[in-house]
Amino acid sequence: MKVLVTGGAGFIGSHVADLLIGQGYDVHVLDNLSSGSLENVAEAAVFHRLDIRSQEVEKLFAKERFDILIHHAAQMDVRRSVRSPGFDADVNIVGLLNLMEAGRNNGLKKVVFASTGGAIYGEPAHAPQTEEHPLRPVSPYGVSKLAGEKYLGFYAAQYGIAHVALRYANVYGPRQNPHGEAGVVAIFAQRLLGSGQPVINGDGLQTRDYIFVSDVAEANLAAINYRGRSEVINIGTGRETDVVTIFRYLRAAIGVSARAVHKDAKEGEQRRSVLSYEKARQLLDWTPRIPIEEGLATTARWFAE
Ligand code: NAD
Repeated sequence: MKVLVTGGAGFIGSHVADLLIGQGYDVHVLDNLSSGSLENVAEAAVFHRLDIRSQEVEKLFAKERFDILIHHAAQMDVRRSVRSPGFDADVNIVGLLNLMEAGRNNGLKKVVFASTGGAIYGEPAHAPQTEEHPLRPVSPYGVSKLAGEKYLGFYAAQYGIAHVALRYANVYGPRQNPHGEAGVVAIFAQRLLGSGQPVINGDGLQTRDYIFVSDVAEANLAAINYRGRSEVINIGTGRETDVVTIFRYLRAAIGVSARAVHKDAKEGEQRRSVLSYEKARQLLDWTPRIPIEEGLATTARWFAE
């Protein structure tokens, strides 16, 4: 089966591409390298340096006739989305539509979409947050990801292109960068390895659901193999971890005694976020495997190298 991984030179997409290559898929990667790197792209993948908004996308789909689209290319910086909502919508909505129009004209059968739980649900009304939790995105990024899910619903109903939208928790691991939803892990790791004073915003007791990237890659594989109707499915651990604890785990993994300084809390920052993975367990037979202590140690080693 021929698979196109957009954003496959980035953090999560490259781990998905690597896993699919190992499983024998014919993997193509499309990426404009705006934040991704060719170093992340496996030799066995066919690489296309292209913007998802480009007119060349249609030609590529016509030539390659992809069976499956794994869509990870995005404007993924929440703060940038607040500064430039138009740019965010252009990449995350218009870019998706460009891919889907190319796909529907050229035999695309299925889409796995990298959505977000953290930025779509908002502050928990109940925890862990299930897929039925009220949707209260507070950033343009959350709004554009939710719109992406809804557009995929349109392509499923109108053209029969199935989709699984995976609402990720905060994804961390090797190759991650500081701008993503689990950016704090990259920032602390770099500071603890000597690039400056670690800073915690506010009391550091704000929590997130941190999920290791190999678990997320496995969820993508399970979503490809899923034969049911189109679905929206959380991919998280159900475990809440606060920023102070992340700092302590990383400090222990790196083996230093640095202390963090606390600065003012970021205005409007969400206090809690934690996702239920019950639906993923039931429909995809997927559960998270890597405990946070182990995942952070692996990530710290990667930054050290
Ligand atoms: P990343 O920046 O490492 O990967 C995104 C990739 O997309 C990069 O390689 C970048 O060069 C590429 N890209 C960006 N704009 C593009 C464009 N217009 N055309 C072609 N390529 C383009 O980020 P990531 O953390 O790996 O995120 C991957 C996906 O997962 C994104 O859709 C993001 O919204 C989603 N997501 C990430 C997290 C997280 O915690 N990291 C959480 C929820 C959802």
